[in-house]
Amino acid sequence: MPVSIGVLREAAEGETRVALTPAVVTTLVRDGFGVTVESGAGDRAGFPDAEYEAAGATLAEPTATLAAQVVVSVGRPDAAATEALTPGQALVGLFDAWHEPHELEALAARGVHVLSLDRLPRQISRAQTMDVLSSQASIAGYRAAIVAAEVYGRYFPMMVTAAGTAKPASVLVLGAGVAGLQAIATARRLGARVTGYDVRPAAREEVTSLGAAFLATTVDAVGEGGYARELTTEESAQQRAELSAAIAGFDIVITTAKVPGRRPPELVDAETVGAMRRGSVIVDLAAGPLGGNVAGSRPDARVETANGVTVIGAGEIAREMAPAASDAFGRNIAAVIAAIVVDGELAVDLTDDVIGAMAINQIEVPA
Ligand code: NAD
Repeated sequence: MPVSIGVLREAAEGETRVALTPAVVTTLVRDGFGVTVESGAGDRAGFPDAEYEAAGATLAEPTATLAAQVVVSVGRPDAAATEALTPGQALVGLFDAWHEPHELEALAARGVHVLSLDRLPRQISRAQTMDVLSSQASIAGYRAAIVAAEVYGRYFPMMVTAAGTAKPASVLVLGAGVAGLQAIATARRLGARVTGYDVRPAAREEVTSLGAAFLATTVDAVGEGGYARELTTEESAQQRAELSAAIAGFDIVITTAKVPGRRPPELVDAETVGAMRRGSVIVDLAAGPLGGNVAGSRPDARVETANGVTVIGAGEIAREMAPAASDAFGRNIAAVIAAIVVDGELAVDLTDDVIGAMAINQIEVPA
Protein backbone atom coordinates (compact mmCIF):
# COMPACT_ATOMS: atom_id res chain seq x y z
CA MET A 1 0.00 0.00 0.00
CA PRO A 2 1.39 3.45 -0.87
CA VAL A 3 1.85 5.85 2.06
CA SER A 4 -1.24 8.08 2.12
CA ILE A 5 -1.15 11.86 2.43
CA GLY A 6 -4.20 13.97 3.33
CA VAL A 7 -4.36 17.69 2.51
CA LEU A 8 -6.72 19.65 4.79
CA ARG A 9 -8.77 22.70 3.94
CA GLU A 10 -7.42 25.40 6.28
CA ALA A 11 -9.37 26.06 9.44
CA ALA A 12 -8.29 29.69 10.06
CA GLU A 13 -10.58 32.23 8.45
CA GLY A 14 -7.81 34.48 7.11
CA GLU A 15 -5.63 31.67 5.81
CA THR A 16 -5.43 31.71 2.02
CA ARG A 17 -2.59 29.23 1.52
CA VAL A 18 -2.79 25.47 1.01
CA ALA A 19 -0.21 22.97 2.29
CA LEU A 20 0.32 21.16 -1.05
CA THR A 21 -0.21 22.57 -4.53
CA PRO A 22 -1.17 20.49 -7.59
CA ALA A 23 2.43 20.72 -8.89
CA VAL A 24 3.76 19.16 -5.68
CA VAL A 25 0.98 16.56 -5.69
CA THR A 26 2.07 15.51 -9.21
CA THR A 27 5.58 14.80 -7.92
CA LEU A 28 4.33 12.93 -4.84
CA VAL A 29 1.98 10.75 -6.89
CA ARG A 30 4.82 10.03 -9.32
CA ASP A 31 6.94 8.98 -6.31
CA GLY A 32 4.30 6.45 -5.29
CA PHE A 33 2.25 8.31 -2.65
CA GLY A 34 -1.52 8.26 -2.51
CA VAL A 35 -2.81 11.82 -2.06
CA THR A 36 -6.29 12.75 -0.82
CA VAL A 37 -7.32 16.40 -0.88
CA GLU A 38 -10.24 17.87 1.03
CA SER A 39 -12.59 19.38 -1.51
CA GLY A 40 -12.00 23.15 -1.80
CA ALA A 41 -8.64 23.02 0.04
CA GLY A 42 -6.87 25.00 -2.69
CA ASP A 43 -9.67 27.38 -3.66
CA ARG A 44 -8.39 30.43 -1.77
CA ALA A 45 -4.85 29.86 -3.07
CA GLY A 46 -6.05 29.75 -6.67
CA PHE A 47 -5.91 25.95 -7.13
CA PRO A 48 -9.36 24.50 -7.89
CA ASP A 49 -10.28 20.86 -7.16
CA ALA A 50 -10.00 19.94 -10.85
CA GLU A 51 -6.26 20.74 -10.83
CA TYR A 52 -5.69 18.36 -7.93
CA GLU A 53 -7.64 15.65 -9.71
CA ALA A 54 -5.58 16.21 -12.85
CA ALA A 55 -2.46 15.91 -10.67
CA GLY A 56 -3.56 12.45 -9.55
CA ALA A 57 -5.13 13.23 -6.16
CA THR A 58 -8.47 11.93 -4.90
CA LEU A 59 -10.89 14.58 -3.69
CA ALA A 60 -12.64 13.68 -0.46
CA GLU A 61 -14.59 14.81 2.55
CA PRO A 62 -12.63 15.66 5.73
CA THR A 63 -13.15 12.20 7.30
CA ALA A 64 -11.25 10.51 4.47
CA THR A 65 -8.50 13.16 4.39
CA LEU A 66 -8.02 12.87 8.15
CA ALA A 67 -7.57 9.10 7.87
CA ALA A 68 -4.36 9.46 5.81
CA GLN A 69 -1.08 8.36 7.36
CA VAL A 70 0.41 11.85 6.90
CA VAL A 71 -2.01 14.76 7.32
CA VAL A 72 -0.74 18.15 6.17
CA SER A 73 -2.04 21.63 6.88
CA VAL A 74 -0.59 25.14 6.78
CA GLY A 75 -1.91 26.15 10.23
CA ARG A 76 -3.49 24.30 13.12
CA PRO A 77 -6.50 22.17 12.23
CA ASP A 78 -9.64 22.81 14.27
CA ALA A 79 -10.57 20.71 17.31
CA ALA A 80 -12.97 18.46 15.36
CA ALA A 81 -10.18 17.55 12.96
CA THR A 82 -7.52 16.88 15.59
CA GLU A 83 -9.97 14.72 17.58
CA ALA A 84 -10.31 12.48 14.54
CA LEU A 85 -6.57 11.76 14.39
CA THR A 86 -5.37 8.46 15.80
CA PRO A 87 -2.06 7.10 17.17
CA GLY A 88 0.66 6.55 14.57
CA GLN A 89 -0.56 9.24 12.17
CA ALA A 90 1.71 12.22 11.42
CA LEU A 91 0.41 15.79 11.34
CA VAL A 92 2.76 18.23 9.58
CA GLY A 93 2.42 22.03 9.32
CA LEU A 94 3.30 25.40 10.79
CA PHE A 95 1.52 25.22 14.11
CA ASP A 96 3.04 28.14 16.06
CA ALA A 97 4.16 25.65 18.67
CA TRP A 98 5.58 28.27 21.06
CA HIS A 99 2.18 29.85 21.44
CA GLU A 100 -0.47 27.95 23.41
CA PRO A 101 1.23 24.55 23.03
CA HIS A 102 -1.16 22.57 25.25
CA GLU A 103 -3.53 21.31 22.56
CA LEU A 104 -0.58 20.16 20.43
CA GLU A 105 0.92 18.44 23.46
CA ALA A 106 -2.38 16.70 24.16
CA LEU A 107 -2.46 15.43 20.58
CA ALA A 108 1.13 14.20 20.85
CA ALA A 109 0.28 12.51 24.16
CA ARG A 110 -2.35 10.51 22.25
CA GLY A 111 0.40 9.11 20.02
CA VAL A 112 0.01 11.40 16.98
CA HIS A 113 3.37 12.54 15.57
CA VAL A 114 2.90 16.31 15.51
CA LEU A 115 5.69 17.94 13.48
CA SER A 116 5.66 21.73 13.70
CA LEU A 117 7.85 23.48 11.18
CA ASP A 118 8.46 26.52 13.39
CA ARG A 119 10.70 24.27 15.50
CA LEU A 120 12.90 23.22 12.57
CA PRO A 121 16.64 23.48 13.37
CA ARG A 122 17.26 25.81 10.44
CA GLN A 123 21.03 25.92 10.87
CA ILE A 124 21.33 22.22 9.90
CA SER A 125 21.91 22.20 6.15
CA ARG A 126 19.74 19.08 5.62
CA ALA A 127 16.80 21.07 7.04
CA GLN A 128 16.99 23.91 4.54
CA THR A 129 14.66 22.38 1.96
CA MET A 130 12.05 22.09 4.76
CA ASP A 131 12.47 25.68 5.97
CA VAL A 132 8.96 27.13 5.76
CA LEU A 133 9.90 30.09 7.98
CA SER A 134 12.49 31.18 5.42
CA SER A 135 10.34 30.53 2.36
CA GLN A 136 7.44 32.51 3.80
CA ALA A 137 9.68 35.27 5.22
CA SER A 138 11.23 35.76 1.83
CA ILE A 139 7.80 36.27 0.28
CA ALA A 140 6.83 38.60 3.14
CA GLY A 141 9.91 40.78 2.65
CA TYR A 142 9.31 41.10 -1.09
CA ARG A 143 5.64 41.88 -0.60
CA ALA A 144 6.36 44.45 2.14
CA ALA A 145 8.44 46.54 -0.27
CA ILE A 146 5.78 46.26 -2.99
CA VAL A 147 2.96 47.25 -0.61
CA ALA A 148 4.99 50.18 0.73
CA ALA A 149 5.61 51.39 -2.84
CA GLU A 150 1.93 51.04 -3.67
CA VAL A 151 0.76 53.03 -0.61
CA TYR A 152 3.46 55.70 -0.80
CA GLY A 153 2.24 58.70 -2.75
CA ARG A 154 5.58 59.45 -4.42
CA TYR A 155 8.17 57.67 -6.57
CA PHE A 156 10.56 55.01 -5.24
CA PRO A 157 13.25 55.74 -7.90
CA MET A 158 14.74 59.09 -8.78
CA MET A 159 12.77 60.47 -11.74
CA VAL A 160 14.22 63.05 -14.06
CA THR A 161 11.43 64.55 -16.15
CA ALA A 162 10.73 67.71 -18.10
CA ALA A 163 8.62 68.78 -15.11
CA GLY A 164 11.61 68.51 -12.81
CA THR A 165 13.46 65.88 -10.80
CA ALA A 166 11.85 63.73 -8.11
CA LYS A 167 14.08 62.50 -5.31
CA PRO A 168 14.23 58.74 -4.69
CA ALA A 169 12.33 57.46 -1.65
CA SER A 170 14.45 56.67 1.38
CA VAL A 171 13.69 53.27 2.87
CA LEU A 172 14.84 51.91 6.24
CA VAL A 173 14.57 48.18 6.94
CA LEU A 174 14.83 47.22 10.62
CA GLY A 175 15.90 43.59 11.08
CA ALA A 176 18.04 42.13 8.30
CA GLY A 177 17.14 38.43 8.47
CA VAL A 178 15.46 36.54 5.65
CA ALA A 179 12.51 38.95 5.28
CA GLY A 180 14.58 42.08 5.82
CA LEU A 181 17.19 41.18 3.21
CA GLN A 182 14.46 40.42 0.67
CA ALA A 183 12.75 43.75 1.46
CA ILE A 184 16.08 45.54 1.00
CA ALA A 185 16.75 43.81 -2.34
CA THR A 186 13.23 44.55 -3.60
CA ALA A 187 13.25 48.22 -2.54
CA ARG A 188 16.64 48.57 -4.23
CA ARG A 189 15.28 47.04 -7.44
CA LEU A 190 12.48 49.60 -7.32
CA GLY A 191 15.11 52.32 -7.21
CA ALA A 192 14.82 53.53 -3.61
CA ARG A 193 17.72 54.65 -1.43
CA VAL A 194 17.85 51.86 1.15
CA THR A 195 19.36 51.51 4.61
CA GLY A 196 19.30 48.33 6.70
CA TYR A 197 19.74 47.73 10.41
CA ASP A 198 20.05 44.71 12.69
CA VAL A 199 21.33 43.99 16.21
CA ARG A 200 23.45 41.15 14.83
CA PRO A 201 26.74 42.70 13.67
CA ALA A 202 27.08 39.95 11.01
CA ALA A 203 24.12 41.51 9.20
CA ARG A 204 26.19 44.54 8.19
CA GLU A 205 28.02 42.67 5.44
CA GLU A 206 24.82 41.10 4.10
CA VAL A 207 23.11 44.50 3.97
CA THR A 208 25.98 46.29 2.29
CA SER A 209 26.47 43.47 -0.22
CA LEU A 210 22.96 44.29 -1.49
CA GLY A 211 24.07 47.86 -2.15
CA ALA A 212 22.27 49.32 0.88
CA ALA A 213 23.74 51.44 3.64
CA PHE A 214 23.98 50.03 7.18
CA LEU A 215 22.67 51.98 10.15
CA ALA A 216 24.91 51.33 13.12
CA THR A 217 23.90 51.56 16.78
CA THR A 218 25.93 50.79 19.89
CA VAL A 219 23.70 47.77 20.78
CA ASP A 220 24.80 44.26 19.66
CA ALA A 221 22.84 41.13 20.56
CA VAL A 222 23.88 37.80 19.12
CA GLY A 223 21.93 34.87 20.54
CA GLU A 224 21.82 31.13 19.92
CA GLY A 225 21.87 29.58 16.45
CA GLY A 226 22.60 32.87 14.68
CA TYR A 227 19.41 34.51 16.00
CA ALA A 228 19.25 37.75 17.90
CA ARG A 229 18.78 37.40 21.66
CA GLU A 230 16.19 39.46 23.49
CA LEU A 231 17.62 42.81 24.59
CA THR A 232 17.70 43.89 28.25
CA THR A 233 15.43 46.80 29.22
CA GLU A 234 18.44 49.15 29.22
CA GLU A 235 19.65 47.94 25.82
CA SER A 236 16.17 48.35 24.36
CA ALA A 237 15.90 51.91 25.63
CA GLN A 238 19.36 52.71 24.27
CA GLN A 239 18.49 51.14 20.89
CA ARG A 240 15.18 53.01 20.63
CA ALA A 241 16.86 56.31 21.47
CA GLU A 242 19.49 55.79 18.76
CA LEU A 243 17.01 54.53 16.15
CA SER A 244 14.42 57.24 16.86
CA ALA A 245 16.89 59.94 15.94
CA ALA A 246 17.37 58.34 12.51
CA ILE A 247 13.85 57.10 11.69
CA ALA A 248 12.14 60.47 11.25
CA GLY A 249 14.33 61.13 8.19
CA PHE A 250 12.99 58.14 6.23
CA ASP A 251 9.94 57.99 3.94
CA ILE A 252 9.39 54.25 4.37
CA VAL A 253 10.18 52.01 7.34
CA ILE A 254 9.82 48.22 7.08
CA THR A 255 10.25 46.33 10.36
CA THR A 256 10.95 42.58 10.52
CA ALA A 257 12.42 41.96 13.98
CA LYS A 258 11.14 38.92 15.75
CA VAL A 259 12.62 36.90 18.61
CA PRO A 260 11.40 33.28 18.38
CA GLY A 261 8.63 32.49 20.87
CA ARG A 262 8.53 35.94 22.40
CA ARG A 263 6.80 39.25 22.03
CA PRO A 264 8.51 41.23 19.21
CA PRO A 265 10.61 44.18 20.41
CA GLU A 266 9.06 47.62 20.00
CA LEU A 267 11.58 49.37 17.76
CA VAL A 268 9.47 52.36 16.71
CA ASP A 269 7.61 54.07 19.54
CA ALA A 270 4.62 56.40 19.27
CA GLU A 271 6.75 59.52 19.61
CA THR A 272 8.94 58.43 16.70
CA VAL A 273 5.91 57.70 14.50
CA GLY A 274 4.64 61.16 15.48
CA ALA A 275 7.91 62.74 14.29
CA MET A 276 7.74 61.20 10.79
CA ARG A 277 6.73 63.25 7.75
CA ARG A 278 3.14 63.22 6.46
CA GLY A 279 2.82 60.60 3.74
CA SER A 280 5.43 58.27 5.25
CA VAL A 281 4.61 54.55 5.31
CA ILE A 282 5.52 51.92 7.92
CA VAL A 283 5.08 48.20 7.23
CA ASP A 284 5.34 46.07 10.39
CA LEU A 285 6.06 42.45 9.43
CA ALA A 286 6.24 41.46 13.10
CA ALA A 287 2.65 42.57 13.84
CA GLY A 288 0.77 39.61 15.26
CA PRO A 289 -1.15 38.43 18.31
CA LEU A 290 1.89 38.99 20.57
CA GLY A 291 2.39 42.61 19.43
CA GLY A 292 4.62 44.17 16.80
CA ASN A 293 7.71 46.31 16.23
CA VAL A 294 5.74 49.53 15.86
CA ALA A 295 3.58 51.34 18.42
CA GLY A 296 -0.02 51.35 17.22
CA SER A 297 0.33 48.73 14.49
CA ARG A 298 -2.53 46.24 14.42
CA PRO A 299 -2.43 42.80 12.77
CA ASP A 300 -3.91 42.87 9.25
CA ALA A 301 -4.92 46.53 9.53
CA ARG A 302 -3.87 49.85 7.97
CA VAL A 303 -3.96 52.75 10.39
CA GLU A 304 -3.41 56.40 9.48
CA THR A 305 -1.98 58.45 12.34
CA ALA A 306 -2.94 62.04 13.16
CA ASN A 307 0.29 63.25 11.49
CA GLY A 308 -0.54 61.39 8.26
CA VAL A 309 1.69 58.30 8.58
CA THR A 310 0.22 55.00 7.32
CA VAL A 311 1.07 52.10 9.65
CA ILE A 312 0.44 48.69 8.08
CA GLY A 313 0.30 45.64 10.38
CA ALA A 314 1.45 42.82 8.13
CA GLY A 315 2.59 39.79 10.15
CA GLU A 316 0.75 37.46 7.77
CA ILE A 317 1.51 39.31 4.53
CA ALA A 318 2.71 36.12 2.77
CA ARG A 319 -1.00 35.20 2.59
CA GLU A 320 -1.41 38.04 0.05
CA MET A 321 0.68 35.99 -2.37
CA ALA A 322 -1.09 32.71 -1.71
CA PRO A 323 -0.14 30.94 -4.98
CA ALA A 324 3.61 31.63 -4.61
CA ALA A 325 3.52 31.10 -0.84
CA SER A 326 1.71 27.76 -1.26
CA ASP A 327 4.15 26.62 -3.98
CA ALA A 328 7.06 27.15 -1.61
CA PHE A 329 5.18 25.78 1.41
CA GLY A 330 4.26 22.63 -0.52
CA ARG A 331 7.85 22.00 -1.58
CA ASN A 332 8.97 22.40 2.04
CA ILE A 333 6.29 19.94 3.21
CA ALA A 334 7.29 17.45 0.49
CA ALA A 335 10.86 17.57 1.85
CA VAL A 336 9.55 16.73 5.35
CA ILE A 337 7.51 13.85 3.93
CA ALA A 338 10.60 12.51 2.14
CA ALA A 339 12.40 12.51 5.51
CA ILE A 340 9.70 10.55 7.39
CA VAL A 341 9.04 7.87 4.78
CA VAL A 342 11.69 5.16 4.54
CA ASP A 343 11.43 2.33 1.98
CA GLY A 344 7.77 3.08 1.34
CA GLU A 345 6.80 3.03 5.06
CA LEU A 346 5.98 5.90 7.39
CA ALA A 347 8.85 5.98 9.91
CA VAL A 348 9.01 9.08 12.12
CA ASP A 349 12.47 8.80 13.67
CA LEU A 350 12.50 10.93 16.80
CA THR A 351 16.22 10.35 17.27
CA ASP A 352 16.89 12.19 13.97
CA ASP A 353 18.16 15.67 14.87
CA VAL A 354 15.89 17.43 12.34
CA ILE A 355 12.70 15.39 12.80
CA GLY A 356 13.13 15.04 16.56
CA ALA A 357 13.45 18.81 16.97
CA MET A 358 10.16 19.42 15.15
CA ALA A 359 8.22 16.76 17.04
CA ILE A 360 5.96 18.09 19.73
CA ASN A 361 6.54 16.37 22.98
CA GLN A 362 6.79 18.53 26.03
CA ILE A 363 7.47 22.01 24.72
CA GLU A 364 9.50 24.24 26.93
CA VAL A 365 7.95 27.65 26.42
CA PRO A 366 10.62 30.33 26.96
CA ALA A 367 10.11 32.09 30.30
P1 NAD B 1 13.64 36.50 12.55
O1 NAD B 1 12.46 36.50 11.65
O2 NAD B 1 13.56 35.75 13.83
O3 NAD B 1 14.09 38.00 12.83
C1 NAD B 1 14.33 38.91 11.78
C2 NAD B 1 15.57 39.74 12.05
O4 NAD B 1 15.32 40.64 13.11
C3 NAD B 1 16.81 38.95 12.43
O5 NAD B 1 17.84 39.28 11.54
C4 NAD B 1 17.12 39.42 13.84
O6 NAD B 1 18.51 39.48 14.10
C5 NAD B 1 16.51 40.79 13.86
N1 NAD B 1 16.20 41.28 15.20
C6 NAD B 1 15.71 40.62 16.27
N2 NAD B 1 15.59 41.44 17.33
C7 NAD B 1 16.00 42.67 16.92
C8 NAD B 1 16.08 43.93 17.52
N3 NAD B 1 15.77 44.13 18.81
N4 NAD B 1 16.54 44.96 16.78
C9 NAD B 1 16.89 44.78 15.49
N5 NAD B 1 16.85 43.62 14.86
C10 NAD B 1 16.40 42.57 15.56
O7 NAD B 1 14.93 35.94 11.83
P2 NAD B 1 15.12 35.16 10.49
O8 NAD B 1 15.00 36.09 9.35
O9 NAD B 1 14.25 34.00 10.49
O10 NAD B 1 16.63 34.70 10.59
C11 NAD B 1 17.47 35.08 11.64
C12 NAD B 1 18.86 34.50 11.48
O11 NAD B 1 18.82 33.13 11.18
C13 NAD B 1 19.66 35.13 10.38
O12 NAD B 1 20.98 35.16 10.80
C14 NAD B 1 19.52 34.19 9.25
O13 NAD B 1 20.58 34.29 8.31
C15 NAD B 1 19.60 32.91 10.02
N6 NAD B 1 19.02 31.82 9.24
C16 NAD B 1 19.83 30.80 8.96
C17 NAD B 1 19.34 29.77 8.21
C18 NAD B 1 20.22 28.63 7.88
O14 NAD B 1 21.27 28.49 8.44
N7 NAD B 1 19.79 27.81 6.99
C19 NAD B 1 18.04 29.78 7.76
C20 NAD B 1 17.23 30.85 8.09
C21 NAD B 1 17.75 31.87 8.83
